[in-house]
Amino acid sequence: MIIEPRTRGFICLTAHPTGCEQNVINQIAYVKSKGAINGAKKVLVIGSSTGFGLASRISSAFGSDAATIGVFFDKPSAPEKTGSAGYYNTAAFEKHAHAAGLYAKSINGDAFLNEIKRQTMDMIKEDLGQVDLVIYSLASPVRTHPDTGERFKSVLKPIGGVFSNKTVDFHTGNVTEISINPAEGDDIANTVAVMGGEDWKMWMDALKAENLLSEGATTVAYSYIGPSLTEAVYRKGTIGAAKDDLEATAFTISDDLKSIGGKAYVSVNKALVTQASSAIPVIPLYISLLYKIMKEKGIHEGCIEQIQRLYSERLFGGDLSLDAKGRIRIDDWEMRDDVQAEVSKLWEIAATENLSEIGDLKGYSDDFYNLFGFKVEGVDYDKDVNEMVEIPSEH
Ligand code: NAD
Repeated sequence: MIIEPRTRGFICLTAHPTGCEQNVINQIAYVKSKGAINGAKKVLVIGSSTGFGLASRISSAFGSDAATIGVFFDKPSAPEKTGSAGYYNTAAFEKHAHAAGLYAKSINGDAFLNEIKRQTMDMIKEDLGQVDLVIYSLASPVRTHPDTGERFKSVLKPIGGVFSNKTVDFHTGNVTEISINPAEGDDIANTVAVMGGEDWKMWMDALKAENLLSEGATTVAYSYIGPSLTEAVYRKGTIGAAKDDLEATAFTISDDLKSIGGKAYVSVNKALVTQASSAIPVIPLYISLLYKIMKEKGIHEGCIEQIQRLYSERLFGGDLSLDAKGRIRIDDWEMRDDVQAEVSKLWEIAATENLSEIGDLKGYSDDFYNLFGFKVEGVDYDKDVNEMVEIPSEH
């Protein structure tokens, strides 16, 4: 079939298998071009199909020849219905990993559930024995608690008062003022339940209890801080409360892993267009200004550049450069004073009339379509493509 993007706000209902494969090929080529990383050899990535998790899986496999198990939650393809981007990405990743002689298997299911943890652990036990790196890169709007069955929904709200600021509809370039009402009721607790550290700890507890972590095993979860411009809705909002909880959990997990000489880290990554971040109000406007400045300065990075640098320079490069709160800061270039000063200046004047000039609206929009395999260079979208793709390890 001919597959075209069908967008609804910050969601795209279709995905293009060839475009998704090309994205994966491009990321593999980038990692290979940077040379070998002396990193972990048996890696579990939770949230492995898109964004930072996919970049982590690719960096491990093609930077360190690692065997990888990926856990993700995506829609498979069906006749006349495209799968989700993460599904096609995973199929492409496995295809290329296997062609390179690398072990790669994947589990498509809800990582919050005990059953999926069980399946994953059985796979590790059978195939790898143990893992030496666990990347935790889930971004989800909901979580069903595995013990109580309670369903939590995360919200993106400020805490304590209404937040009003500019935002952009990146499809039209319309800059408008939005107001977001503050969290109420259980909003904060629910968001922490979904995006905080409890599930990460559950994974690590389960893996350790079954002796599936090798001596000195490391685990890394991803966080975000961002500038004062977005603070009220992000870092000091409900999602920030969840990130505070995730970051605190790193210390608890580190304590738990002491007996095997293991360690848990949080890496604070840069703001990037992913399915998760395009859902957050105000952030798209910030990102389009940030992209413009960082590209002009020659320091723009995507997920793969971020994770390749995280691995090669920090995690396996011998220089973690932890901040005062014990976090790895691979958002260092985003947070540079000169970058932030220029973004703030542009923020003041950003309007519908000038955004395409002062901001990188096109870069934002292209990256958004790229997430779903559209507008990818070198892909012929007029060509008939088979929407039915299989993930090799599932068959
Ligand atoms: P993403 O939406 O691209 O990826 C999320 C991944 O989680 C996908 O593989 C998806 O399949 C998987 N997933 C979601 N729910 C699941 C479930 N119930 N079970 C199994 N898998 C599930 O998101 P991302 O932007 O790469 O975010 C990953 C992490 O990085 C998050 O913690 C996010 O806060 C953090 N982060 C993101 C940014 C950014 O700007 N995008 C910046 C810094 C940190």
